[in-house]
Amino acid sequence: MIYTMQGLENDHPIREMLFNLLPTEIPERADIAPEGADALGVVVEQAGAENRIRVCCVRGGKQICAEKRAPISDDAEQTKRVRTHALKSAIFEAVVPFLDTAPEWGSLTGVRPAKFARSFMEQGYTPAQVAKLMTETYHVSAARRALAIRSAGVAMDLKEKIRDNDISIYIGIPFCPSRCSYCSFVSHSIEKAGKLMEAYLDTLCGEIAHTGEILKQAGLRIVTIYIGGGTPTTLSAEQMDRLLRTVHQAFDLHALEEFTVEAGRPDTITREKLTVLKKYGVDRISINPQSMNDAVLEGIGRHHSAQDVLDRYQTAREVGFSAINMDTIAGLDGDTPESFARTIDMLLELNPENITVHTLAAKRGADQHDRAHNAQKQDDVRQMLEIASQKLTAAGYVPYYLYRQKFMAGGFENVGWCKIGYECKYNVYMMEELQTIVSLGAGGVTKLLGSDGRKIRRISNPKYPYEYNVSLQRINAGKQEILNWAQSSTALPD
Ligand code: SF4
Repeated sequence: MIYTMQGLENDHPIREMLFNLLPTEIPERADIAPEGADALGVVVEQAGAENRIRVCCVRGGKQICAEKRAPISDDAEQTKRVRTHALKSAIFEAVVPFLDTAPEWGSLTGVRPAKFARSFMEQGYTPAQVAKLMTETYHVSAARRALAIRSAGVAMDLKEKIRDNDISIYIGIPFCPSRCSYCSFVSHSIEKAGKLMEAYLDTLCGEIAHTGEILKQAGLRIVTIYIGGGTPTTLSAEQMDRLLRTVHQAFDLHALEEFTVEAGRPDTITREKLTVLKKYGVDRISINPQSMNDAVLEGIGRHHSAQDVLDRYQTAREVGFSAINMDTIAGLDGDTPESFARTIDMLLELNPENITVHTLAAKRGADQHDRAHNAQKQDDVRQMLEIASQKLTAAGYVPYYLYRQKFMAGGFENVGWCKIGYECKYNVYMMEELQTIVSLGAGGVTKLLGSDGRKIRRISNPKYPYEYNVSLQRINAGKQEILNWAQSSTALPD
C-alpha cells in the first residue's frame, strides 16, 4: 500500500497501522500517489490549539475519508500521544470499510493492552467507562476489551501490595535441545552451542554472586524469581543444582513469594532435574506442549510427543509440584480448530493450575511471504482462541495477563489463564511494568522503575552467550547502577 504524508511527520504510526490492518501488503511512502493507485493519504496540520487530521483511503477506485481533532497541551509528550491515537483511529476508520473483518484490537497497536486499560482505571474511570472508551474511541471488540479490563484489575490488585523496595529477578538460560521452527527468542540448540554451556554457567554464577552483594547493599527485597530461556532444563541435574545453590547463597530469599522455572520442553525433563528444583524451593514450573497433536509437534521441530507431555506431567506431580503452567500456541502449521480443541481438552483433563494460550507470531525479521502466510490463518486462529476461551472459562479458569507481539496471526494476543489464586505474579509484574526486574544472563535487560512508576531505565547484558561469556567484568561493573538507583530513592532523572 502506498501512502503519502503532508504536514507533521508521522511515519512510524502510519506504518504501524498499515501493518496492523493490511499485514500482507508492504507500506511504501511516496511523495505523490500515482493516478488511480490504491493509496492512503494523510494530512496532519496544526490549527490553533489543536492538530487536525485527515486520512483518505483509496482502494479499487473507491475513496473513504476520516477526520479527527487532537488538542495541543503544554505537555509535549501528551500532545504527541493524543495526536498519534487520533491518527491511528482515523486510519482505522478510513481503511476498515475495505476489509472483510476488522481487527479485534481496533486501532490499539501496543503490546500491553491491559496497561492501557489500567492507565484509565487508575485515573478513576470505572470498568464500564473504560469499556465504552475502548469501543467508541479505539474500536476494540467486546471480547478483547473484557480481557484487557480483567487483566488490568488483577494488576491493580497486585500493585497495591508491592512495597517500595520489592524487586523480581529474571535469570535466562538461552539454550534448547533443538530450535522450534516458529521461535523468535535468542536461544541456541545444544547441538550447535552446547560447548558454550559450562562457561555460560560459570559466568552466570559470577553475575548472580555479584548481583546478590549489590542487592543486599541496596536493601532490596526479592519477591519473585523466574528462570526462563530458552529452556532452563537443558542444563543437566548437576548444572541445575549448581545454579540454584548459587542463587540461594547469593540472594537473601526471606521475602521470596514465588520461584518459577520454565521446564519448557518435555524432552529435557527428568525426575532427577525436577527433584533438584523441588530441593531448592522452586514452587512453579512450566511444561509446554504447544500442541498435543504429534504431527504438528513433528512439523515444528519439537523432539517430543504428546505422550511425553503426559508422562512428564505425571512425574512433576509425583515429585510434588502443585503449580504447573502449560503453554499452547494457536495457529501452528498443520493444526486445525478441531485438533486445537483436542489439545485444550487434553490439557484440561490434566488439570494444571495455569494454561497460557499464545497466538502464533511471525518471527522477527520475517519476510512478507511469512507474514502473509500468518495473516491467512486469522480465521482459524480466531476460532481457536474462541474455543480456548469457552473451554477454559467453563472449566473455571480466568484470564489474568496478556500481551501482544508484532505480526501475530490476526493481530490477536497471548493470554495467561489460571485457576483463581494461581496468578503468576512475575508475569504480571513484568508485563505490566509494575516492579523493577533485575535480569541476569545473556540478553537480560534489567528494568529499573522510577518513583513515578513510569520512567524505566534499562541496563542490557550482551545478547549472545559467546559475548556474554567474556564480559563478566563489564556486566558486574554495570550493576553499580542498581545501587545508585536504589540510593537515589528510586527517582530517575529526566
Ligand atoms: S523450546 Fe522454546 S525457546 Fe527453545 S526454540 Fe523452542 S520455542 Fe524457542
